[in-house]
Amino acid sequence: MGNWTRRGFIGSLSGAAAATALAAQETGGAEKRKSNGSIKITDLRCAIIGKNPTVRIVTDQGISGYGQAEGVKTYLKPMVLFYRDYLIGEDPTDVARIMLKIRRMGAFKPWGAAVSAIEIALWDVAGQAAGLPVYKLLGGKIRDRVRVYNGAVRFPMSGQTPQDYAEDMAKMKAAKEGFTLIKQAIGFHNPAMMKAIPDMWYDSPARSGPAHMDSGLLTESGLDYILSCVEAMKKVLGDEVGLSLDCGPGWTVKDAIRFARAVEPFHITWLEDIITGDYSPYPNAQVFKQVTESTSTPIHTGEEIYLRENFKDLIETQAVNVIGPDPEDVGGIAELKWIAEYANLHGILVAPHGVFDGLFGVAAHVQMAAALPQNYIAFEYPIGQPDWWYDIVDGLPDPIVNKGFIDVWDKPGLGISFNVRAAKAHLSDEDRTFFD
Ligand SMILES: [Mg+2]
Repeated sequence: MGNWTRRGFIGSLSGAAAATALAAQETGGAEKRKSNGSIKITDLRCAIIGKNPTVRIVTDQGISGYGQAEGVKTYLKPMVLFYRDYLIGEDPTDVARIMLKIRRMGAFKPWGAAVSAIEIALWDVAGQAAGLPVYKLLGGKIRDRVRVYNGAVRFPMSGQTPQDYAEDMAKMKAAKEGFTLIKQAIGFHNPAMMKAIPDMWYDSPARSGPAHMDSGLLTESGLDYILSCVEAMKKVLGDEVGLSLDCGPGWTVKDAIRFARAVEPFHITWLEDIITGDYSPYPNAQVFKQVTESTSTPIHTGEEIYLRENFKDLIETQAVNVIGPDPEDVGGIAELKWIAEYANLHGILVAPHGVFDGLFGVAAHVQMAAALPQNYIAFEYPIGQPDWWYDIVDGLPDPIVNKGFIDVWDKPGLGISFNVRAAKAHLSDEDRTFFD
């Protein structure tokens, strides 16, 4: 990304002046820019590429910024375009001013995703305009490499016995990414496990509807079965690789406490969303607090929560030990950083969610995680789905993950870009003009 002597000089200028000076150096002249260095948004577009809603902010200066939403939200396009009129004509480098306009018009997962993807795309523009990686605009690096956990790297299960879970962990442990922390779905977060034996809990599974709707009191044999699977996984991982468990939502308070205490000898990294979470449109701080105060096992929640205001009770009452906002749902990367800083003041750790966040999500996570405070554990690693995503994005390291970490890159903006010619081949007819 150029030499630091040059950056150092430009870094001493004000934002707009630096952007103009840098653009003049990088392009050999400022012919593509207006003489006063201003930059304006001319369009906001959204295409569903593969399954990931992909946002493009188009500017009058030849710079485009990209952001993505989770690959399970293929319906998001109209929600993104809803904000178009609020963005046109704005200076995309005034990210905070634009966010004041649009953050009020979002909601908990899945509806905060549109605002979040736009925020990330704005930072991509701002970074490119300044000639700086986004982590510099977020306050600069705390770390040169960021830890990730397996997230979207999963293997098909051969069955639902404790032995099957042990074998799955052996495959995870041997994965080429060399993860130092692995998460597994159990309990109500894992419907297949909940069908492994009869009468796992005192109710029957929902017959249809969205994922993770089940809830209720576990039977003694049900709780013991879940524990036996955890014990089998832990035996394989030993003390070399951390194990966290995505549990719910849907557990009763007393089952959650019984379970959290029973796994204390296993040094579990965290129990996720055991009370509420996933798509619960509320954070239940008081109830989480009962569980958290009853065990030494760390309790985690937050992937569905939108905006810092909705983390206030969880953090101020110290209702959980770890929060897991997703930058593509919480309102973006600067929003998540603010929440992480506030959590840090209260002795709470942060492990951002991200399983479906796509490759632009990987870039956004890396830029953000580089600048998060020291309460950062790891982010949940997304993969490109389908595989051709790796052919249409330039700038990612190869391999991306090395011994469980990603080295933070220094290219301007998010530091990755579309190979437009290759990407165009994967656009639907409806999105044909996305890159034009
Ligand atoms: Mg989860």
